[in-house]
Amino acid sequence: MTGTHYCNEPNLFLINMSSTGIIFNIQRFSVNDGPGIRTTVFMKGCPLGCRWCHNPESRSFGIEKISGQAVGKEYLIDELLEEIEKDRIFYDESGGGVTFSGGEPLSQPEFLKGIIKKCKNAGIHCAIDTAGYAKKEIFKELIGITDLFLYDIKLIDPVQHLKYTDVSNHEILENLDYLVKNKVKIIVRLPLIPEITAIDKNIEQIRDFLKKYKKTPEINLLPYHRIAENKYIKYGFKYMMINKKELDNAEIKHFQEIFINSGFNVNIEGN
Ligand code: SF4
Repeated sequence: MTGTHYCNEPNLFLINMSSTGIIFNIQRFSVNDGPGIRTTVFMKGCPLGCRWCHNPESRSFGIEKISGQAVGKEYLIDELLEEIEKDRIFYDESGGGVTFSGGEPLSQPEFLKGIIKKCKNAGIHCAIDTAGYAKKEIFKELIGITDLFLYDIKLIDPVQHLKYTDVSNHEILENLDYLVKNKVKIIVRLPLIPEITAIDKNIEQIRDFLKKYKKTPEINLLPYHRIAENKYIKYGFKYMMINKKELDNAEIKHFQEIFINSGFNVNIEGN
């Protein structure tokens, strides 16, 4: 389906209520997706349409053929657990574990719950990397069994959020409130996209939004890289960031300082 993968439905919060899940990649030895050495499981389907998405092949729901290549594979919970267990020695030695990413892992809630329960029974640390656009009931069921949420905040202005991601940020911000109230361990991830999210006004709005919490969450900044451009070419998707330059170190440091000056603990991912 070259170039026709955009079958996202912005109001669709979940697709999969079964014990099988669709995974499009399993990346071993990840060091940026939570503590220690981790296995990152990339789950297929995402209701957002971020213009800078690094995994455009992940966004449509279901297994599909793009440019002659199958993207996505169905797994039973026990099959996936077996894959995750293969790296147990590295988790044990580094304080690592498994991170469920995507796409949007909360789009496959029953499968996600099932695999996390199995991992927890096996003593494996579990993190979820989410854009937060899901029903609160799904978070309710996951907070007791998930060790860490890596939670994306992109834009505070609702009009800009809708313009650049195709969905409202109302539920996303409400769900973050809900997680914080429930004292769940959270790291907020903020993609620094030139001229879109990486502008003073937005960064200050995010800082002010997070400042209202008694215990401010840790923040990880994710500077935009052009590395996904080749994927867009390979799969025949339209690349919407064509003229965007990467931020230089001084610009990244400037945005980091906006948070540091307000007492936040801020890291830059990939540095
Ligand atoms: S939330 Fe993540 S996976 Fe979904 S479109 Fe945005 S960047 Fe891509």
